[in-house]
Amino acid sequence: MPAHLPGHGASRGSALGRARVRLPHALEVVEQRIPAAAVGKELRRLHDAVDSTRAEMHILRERLHGALAKEVGEFLDLHALLLDDPELLHGLDELIRAGRYSADYALRLQRDRLAAVFDGMDDPYLKSRMDDLDHVIGRIHAHLQKRTHGPKGVAGDILVSDNVAPSELAQLQVQGVVAVVTSGGSPLSHSAILARSLHMPLVVGASKALQKINDGDVLIVDGASGSIVIEPGPEELRAYRQRLRELAREQKELGRLRSKPTRSKDGIDIALLANAESREDVANAHALGAAGLGLYRTEFLFLQRNELPGEEEQFLCYRDAVLGMSGRPVTIRTLDLGADKADRTGLVLGNEDNPALGLRGVRLSLANGDLFDTQLRAIVRASGYGPVRVLVPMVSSREEIMAVRRRLKRVAGNLRKQGAEVADDIPLGAMIEVPSAAIALHAFVDVVDFLSVGTNDLVQYLLAADRNNDTLGDLYSPLNPGVIRLLKHIINIANEHRTPVAVCGEIAGDATLTPLLLALGLTEFSLHPATLLEVRKAIRGSDLSALKARAGKLLQARDRAGIENWLKLAARP
Ligand code: PEP
Ligand code: MG
Repeated sequence: MPAHLPGHGASRGSALGRARVRLPHALEVVEQRIPAAAVGKELRRLHDAVDSTRAEMHILRERLHGALAKEVGEFLDLHALLLDDPELLHGLDELIRAGRYSADYALRLQRDRLAAVFDGMDDPYLKSRMDDLDHVIGRIHAHLQKRTHGPKGVAGDILVSDNVAPSELAQLQVQGVVAVVTSGGSPLSHSAILARSLHMPLVVGASKALQKINDGDVLIVDGASGSIVIEPGPEELRAYRQRLRELAREQKELGRLRSKPTRSKDGIDIALLANAESREDVANAHALGAAGLGLYRTEFLFLQRNELPGEEEQFLCYRDAVLGMSGRPVTIRTLDLGADKADRTGLVLGNEDNPALGLRGVRLSLANGDLFDTQLRAIVRASGYGPVRVLVPMVSSREEIMAVRRRLKRVAGNLRKQGAEVADDIPLGAMIEVPSAAIALHAFVDVVDFLSVGTNDLVQYLLAADRNNDTLGDLYSPLNPGVIRLLKHIINIANEHRTPVAVCGEIAGDATLTPLLLALGLTEFSLHPATLLEVRKAIRGSDLSALKARAGKLLQARDRAGIENWLKLAARP
């Protein structure tokens, strides 16, 4: 009898494969004592295992190549750093020397001690670092046992696990693993972002996965809807094959749109820009005919490392994005660390009671002037290579934008004096993510050159619903009358002031919501390249004037069902 299991779709694609269940990292090691005379030998055994792990990680790092080598490499570097952590290693030596435990059991004890410390932490980011530690401990243990560790996958496997580290994903793909299902995790995690870039189907938050799925079970995984079928019967297999045929047909059809304009049925051109985090995203954006980069998230350069990236490193990265888009505008968002995006350099405070409402985004940059100037210098230098725009995250007041404008002007002036090639005009834009900035947009729209609505955050702040909290279910949703009305208000004010406005949150890439955004008058979308062709298709199939004529009905909707109903009617030919 097939069973169905719900989860959350985090990276699209359908896969049929064999479950490879990896139980949580608790080490299955029984207590084992050693005689005093064996202590030296046991310490050597442990140190050899640590050295072998270090060498193994080094080889893995060297072998990385291709578009995501940099991103994945950073995670491996982080794991290599943990191997030198005195907290981990000295504790282990002590347990062998004084406790006379075997190296294997000492590893387990030390793991459990550290897990208790991490568990007690308030900060969800730091808490989640235990996953990294578990990964490293798992590798050491494999060497002690003379086994090979790591995500072991065979072609056709679907990894079923409590979580998956970003560094594992690329390895799994090379091994031919066709999808990943995790009982925990969030669609906004780094792993999810990387899975989308790798086109690896990923379902997260399938809370019953480890109880219900057995090693070797055949699974059908749908990374879009998040559904999982265990041991599918003939009916499900037939439906799966049918779905694959449909997907292949859709992909072929979409492929034809690569070089087509993004023009509505009634002849209105809509700008599709891309959100990018990696070089591969930039390459895809260019290949799919994106009108530019609407959101280049720079915090990915700052995460998972112990030191800040310097001006030169940042400059090369931004310049390469500019070169990659060959003349199309590149919108570089200044650092958006804070809240769920925490770094390891101490920039982000670990002790804020409410980090989502704390020192994040532009607040953090303005509080760290030198850091901000370094980033602005790197961006301004990149402007010598092609059109660059600066986008400021989490703006909540006119003063913040004015402060950034003054800094940008000073930095550009100094660079010009030093003889650097700097563009004459570097437009400055604000992300609209804070409700007050959206409501009082008229108060600072005259000091920005463009606007970009970050609906991921705007929805969470407007609805007081954490974007990372799975338990809130439908509460976190853009299909809310308050959200729709606020979006309309933002677009109206921007239009009145002839200020370009885009939406760059995830809803811009959801083709089912395209009619809604078009009806509200949006003419600029910024979305992940993976969804660009679908949205282009939706726009080419839309009659803008007809949609706008129905906008009144959309704004009158009183609840989610009303908005969904409107969307259903809008989808009718
Ligand atoms: C947003 O909040 O909608 C956005 C695009 O920014 P991020 O997802 O990086 O916070
Ligand atoms: Mg945001």
